[in-house]
Amino acid sequence: MSVQKIDLGFDPEELREKYRVERDKRLRVDGSEQYQEMTGDFTHYVDDPYIGEKIEREPLTDEMDVIVIGGGFGGLITGARLKESGLDRVRIIEKGGDFGGTWYWNRYPGAACDVESYIYLPLCEELGFVPKEKYTHAPEILEHSHNIGKKYDLYKEACFQTEVTGLEWDEQAANWIVRTNRNDTMRARFVAMSNGPLNRPKLPGIKGISDFKGHTFHTSRWDYGYTGGGPDGGLDKLADKRVGVIGTGATAVQCVPHLGVGAKELFVFQRTPSSIDVRDNRPTDPEWAAELKPGWQKERMENFNTLTSGGIVEEDLIQDGWTEIIRNLISMANYRGKGLQRSEIAEMIELADFQKMEQVRARAQEIVNDPDVAESLKPYYRQFCKRPCFHDDYLPTFNRDNVHLIDTDGKGIDEISERGIVANGKLVELDCIIFATGFEVGTDYTRRSGYDVIGKGGLKLSNKWADGMKSLHGLHTRGFPNLFIISNAQAAFTTNFPHAMDESAQHIGYIVNQCLSGNISTIEPSEEAEEAWVQEIISLARLSESYQAACTPGYYNNEGKPNPRSIQNASYGKGPNPFFKRMKSWREEGGMQGLELG
Ligand code: NDP
Repeated sequence: MSVQKIDLGFDPEELREKYRVERDKRLRVDGSEQYQEMTGDFTHYVDDPYIGEKIEREPLTDEMDVIVIGGGFGGLITGARLKESGLDRVRIIEKGGDFGGTWYWNRYPGAACDVESYIYLPLCEELGFVPKEKYTHAPEILEHSHNIGKKYDLYKEACFQTEVTGLEWDEQAANWIVRTNRNDTMRARFVAMSNGPLNRPKLPGIKGISDFKGHTFHTSRWDYGYTGGGPDGGLDKLADKRVGVIGTGATAVQCVPHLGVGAKELFVFQRTPSSIDVRDNRPTDPEWAAELKPGWQKERMENFNTLTSGGIVEEDLIQDGWTEIIRNLISMANYRGKGLQRSEIAEMIELADFQKMEQVRARAQEIVNDPDVAESLKPYYRQFCKRPCFHDDYLPTFNRDNVHLIDTDGKGIDEISERGIVANGKLVELDCIIFATGFEVGTDYTRRSGYDVIGKGGLKLSNKWADGMKSLHGLHTRGFPNLFIISNAQAAFTTNFPHAMDESAQHIGYIVNQCLSGNISTIEPSEEAEEAWVQEIISLARLSESYQAACTPGYYNNEGKPNPRSIQNASYGKGPNPFFKRMKSWREEGGMQGLELG
């Protein structure tokens, strides 16, 4: 069978060219530098609007077995797994006023998980909990985070409203000194850093951003005092306001429908449209929930992961847009058995991608009444160039008379003035500007975490990683003993982030217990093991280099500039399941291969 003979209903060559033209419109020389850091005059954008009272406490100088930095899902799961394995002196340090991480900060109206909640919310079985909806909303996820904290007694030692300012290895004592903005000088034998992949909001670095006289805020610090209403909508204070939203990524897709209902006039400033597929959210069936058998969550998580990383399973337990996308691609790739060459398989996968995106574009055409607006809302790039979105109310919002799409055709807004936003050369007067402009991703780890780490012999992590990350399994880095880094760089990437975090947490639990029971005071990777791991990451990442380069700019491809550093900082290229398997075999093998034991 030849690739050309399938009746597709579109011309792949034309689409390839269209994708290229659309990408080229968006390529910029400044790449990630186009964004404005939230420092100096902009720090108020990251103030915490959710804390009731400032916690007053004396500085701490005590010692823990493990200090975990970050109280989001990564920190909570790590804390929980360490507690489960018998450790008691575990402290989570968190900048926010409570646990929750992403879900502490992102309380914008309509916020919900976009991966099925039964697999996305961690430790559901341990807590005997089944979420209320298939894609549950932010308040329930935040409450679940608090419940994990309670169940594992993580509140006891937690330090909230506390930011780590420095981390330094004390060679003599063989432990870490953790300094904070509360003048703490705590110590810990092990430190796990779970700062989060998307913890630093960013603003567009455009002219006039400080000149605007109206109200502004970033979606991750929603100002309900100004908008009225709450996470379910009802933004009644906007009834007499002209509101502008900059950005049309996954966040905007969830909050725009509520803004459309609440605002007198809503202007959505678009640079690149998102791909918006069917959501079909629904309440949890209580009978189904009652019949779940022990082990259900792990089985479901693994089923999702297998499906979304190209494996074959008998039954798709999740049955949603994510698993459908991949099934579609894989069914194409299954022509492998019919003797296709590697390049032909790639072509088949590309065709499946075109087909899916044609469906997404047809959906915009069908739902949006104005054909020009519908055309502007069609994404022309491959589906994993940006985060695919699933929503049933976003596209219909553009049929409302009070909602206006300002399509900048890839250019972005021109500038912000005292009175509003200038785009396509025209001023749109506004009372309020909401920045749905996302978070820093491609910047240095230590810039995003907000502190540097000083390891053996005064070595700084920022210096060690200046030309790219160096680690073993993404988790350890030489020169920084007893330090664990929880992230997807040089480790597993899965659409269901918390699953990868749980695998890391279990791995950390294993290593810490090996050290405590085996009288091992320090662990750090050997030079050879670290070098080999980095080389493996690079060689696997090279396989997707051309795909990344062909993508429309975004944080997935370092804003259109895939450079050697972003290739080195890539995730494990064989996918999450092979990574988890490899970590499991490593544990089963014993001896902690690749780590030097002190
Ligand atoms: P994104 O980075 O995805 O989106 C930022 C938006 O701002 C883009 O549309 C970008 O356009 C636009 N933008 C930036 N600069 C300008 C400018 N100068 N002029 C006009 N537009 C501009 O951030 P999000 O907060 O939407 O999402 C971040 C990530 O968070 C997601 O990818 C996802 O992983 C996660 N998320 C998950 C959710 C969930 O349900 N679980 C919900 C929300 C977010 P362009 O595309 O052209 O760069």
